[in-house]
Amino acid sequence: MSPVYNFASGPARLPDAVLERARDTLLLRGADGACALERPFSSPAFRATLERARQRLAALLGLPAGYRVLFLAGGAMQQFSMVPLNLLGRARCAAYADSGYWAGRAIREARRYAEVAVVARYQGATPLAAPPLANWPLPDDCAYCHITPNETGEGIAYPALPDTGAVPLVADATSCFLAGPLDVSRFGLIYAGAQKNIGPAGLTVVIVREDLLEREARYAPAPYCYRQQLAENNTVNTPVGWAIELAALVFDWIAESGGLAAMALANRRKAERLYHAIDTSGGFYQAPVAHGHRSPSNVRFQLADERLTEPFLQQAEAAGLTHLRGHCHVGGLRASLYNAMPQAGVDALVAFMADFSRRQG
Ligand code: PMP
Repeated sequence: MSPVYNFASGPARLPDAVLERARDTLLLRGADGACALERPFSSPAFRATLERARQRLAALLGLPAGYRVLFLAGGAMQQFSMVPLNLLGRARCAAYADSGYWAGRAIREARRYAEVAVVARYQGATPLAAPPLANWPLPDDCAYCHITPNETGEGIAYPALPDTGAVPLVADATSCFLAGPLDVSRFGLIYAGAQKNIGPAGLTVVIVREDLLEREARYAPAPYCYRQQLAENNTVNTPVGWAIELAALVFDWIAESGGLAAMALANRRKAERLYHAIDTSGGFYQAPVAHGHRSPSNVRFQLADERLTEPFLQQAEAAGLTHLRGHCHVGGLRASLYNAMPQAGVDALVAFMADFSRRQG
């Protein structure tokens, strides 16, 4: 049977080797009679898993001194509230860059807690691009500046990071985390929902610079308080132990596959191949995002004749290429090429696209 490639934007494909190890791990009961799904979080075995996950992630990233890692329950959207609840301190204002759908949702949520200054905007017209990077009017009293480096729905990626000076830069890195090397020292805080490059949904990784933990977080509920979670070793409430176990397996797989530089190289090759196929299709397929701003993780495209979108999706699925429908607020088509998508999956998609366009004659 020929393989089926799942191009979903998340929950997304996980590496085969991780699934196999996960299956073995799941059935492995320790001396305490518990497997990773059953283990109480007060046990030494759980604490060892947590430490292993932390250390492996730190090693992959080359985490600088002065940063702490949390593995929290919930999705990236919880962080839309947790960030202002923990980082506003005595300030009233926070700066946000509006780069598309997910940034917009982060902004709407932050407005419940803060005066939000939108310091940069994307244009929303084709060709799409990230907000311009220069001259962001950061208010003097703003507590942090939030960006969404990769917009999963629009398929827009920032070509570089903005310079926010002394204002801590906060990133929702959900759909680009671990896709390549990351200079953590540029950020005050980074968060990423797990269901793209880390593991299963329900877990979010937060990396926070220690000095930001000193800010007053009076209204942060206990499980949502970074400082308290760190003080209580990530166990203020029941942590998502199995998801953390799986994340550790994914970190191992990345390390064994050559680390983040190797991920970046493979991801660039995959994305270049697909964008090239779109750009050389004579206009049959179109990519609405400008060169230099195109996401390598979420390749967005559409058919010049929109009436062909449904037949494309149906025939692609029959050919073993699934979940290519674009984000529901954006439309069109999207192929998500996270770390676990092999080059063979992209090659199969490119071959199908050429065949589909030929058949429309
Ligand atoms: N931010 C980004 C960039 C995302 O891609 C997503 C999910 N696709 C979210 C936030 C929301 O994540 P969750 O549904 O896990 O809360």
